[in-house]
Amino acid sequence: MDTLKKRLLRQIRSRGPISLSDYMGACLLDPDHGYYCRPNPIGAEGSFTTAPEISQMFGELIGICIGQAWMDQGRPDRFTLAELGPGRGTLMADLLRATASIPGFNRCAHVHLVERSQRLQGIQAERLRDHDPIWCQHADDLPEQPLFLVANEFFDALPIRQFKRMQESWIETLIGANGNRLVYRDSGPIRCNALMAKEADTEPSDIVELRPLADRIICSLSQTIREFGGIALIADYGDLHLKGNTFQAVRDHRTANPLDDPGLADLTSHVDFSAIIRSAEGVAATPLITQGEFLGRMGIAQRANMLAASANAEQLHDHMAAYRRLTGSDQMGTLFKFVAFHPLGSTTPPGFP
Ligand code: SAH
Repeated sequence: MDTLKKRLLRQIRSRGPISLSDYMGACLLDPDHGYYCRPNPIGAEGSFTTAPEISQMFGELIGICIGQAWMDQGRPDRFTLAELGPGRGTLMADLLRATASIPGFNRCAHVHLVERSQRLQGIQAERLRDHDPIWCQHADDLPEQPLFLVANEFFDALPIRQFKRMQESWIETLIGANGNRLVYRDSGPIRCNALMAKEADTEPSDIVELRPLADRIICSLSQTIREFGGIALIADYGDLHLKGNTFQAVRDHRTANPLDDPGLADLTSHVDFSAIIRSAEGVAATPLITQGEFLGRMGIAQRANMLAASANAEQLHDHMAAYRRLTGSDQMGTLFKFVAFHPLGSTTPPGFP
C-alpha cells in the first residue's frame, strides 16, 4: 500500500478523523509523497494540463495585460512581478517574453514565485534562469512595494473545509478509516461565525466549502496593492455563489475517487469567487468574466492569426486546437473565470469591461 495512505490511516486510527483541509494539504504538498512533489505533475505527462501548457498565447496575453496596467499606474521603477503556484514556470516565461517589448518593464521587475514544491521550484529555476527569480513559501512574504501578480489554477489547489447545513447546526465532512480504506465521516454539530454568515443564502441539506487560506492570501495581497499599487489577476475554475460538493480528484487526465490514491492524484475544488472578492478589502474588483471573454478582449484571435501565418500544417492543426481549447465555451472558455484587483480610482486593467 502507498506510504502516504498508510501514514494517514495510522494517524486517523490513533487520533480520529481528519478534515478535508488536512487531507488535501498532505496529498498535495507532503515533501516525500505529495502530488506536486512528484516528477512531472503538470502537462501531458502529469495528471492534468493547464492553460499556459496548452498555448504560449495564454501567458503572452496576461503579460500584455499586466504590462499595460504597469504603464497605466505610472511605470513604478521598482516593483514585484509575482506568480502564485507557477507550476512549470511556463506562464511566467511567456509573460516575460511578451513584456520584453515594453520599455523598462522587465528591467524594473523583481520576479517572485510563491511555490511550496521543491521539485517544481527546480523546474522553475531552469525555465526562468535569465530572470533571477526569488522564491517565497507564502504570499505574506512578498515585498512591500508595488505588486503585479498573476495566479492561474492556484486557488483551486488550496485546502478546503466542507460543511453540510442541518436544521439547527452544521456538520463537517471528515475523513476516517474503515479497515484499510479511507472513507468520509460526518463530524458532530458545529456552529461558527463563518458558517452563520452562510445561513442567509443556504437551506438545510446544502453543502458549502470554505477556503480559509485563500481568504487570508487575498486579504494580504489586497493590503499590498492598496498601499503600494499594482494588480492581482486571478484565473481559475469556479463561479460566484458556489454551493455543493465540488471536491474532486484527477489522475491521468481522468476523474478519480479523491480518497483512493492519496498523493497520486491532483485534488482540487471549484473556487468560490464570491469569497475571493469579499476578502479583497479596500481595492477595486473588476467584474468576474469568463476566460473566453478575457482572452477575446485581449486580442487572442489576432494573436492566433499571427502565429498561424508562420506555422506548418501540423503546427497549424495543433495551434487551432489549442485556441479552441482555451476559448471554446464547451471547453475551458466558460468554466474558467478571471477577476482582477487594482487600487481604488486606478484604470481598470485591460481585458475587463
Ligand atoms: N499555475 C500553474 C500551475 C498550477 S498547479 C499553471 O497554470 O500551469 C498549482 C500550483 O500551485 C503548483 O505549482 C503547486 O505546487 C502550487 N501550490 C499548491 N498549493 C500551494 C501552496 N499552499 N503554497 C504555494 N504553492 C502551492
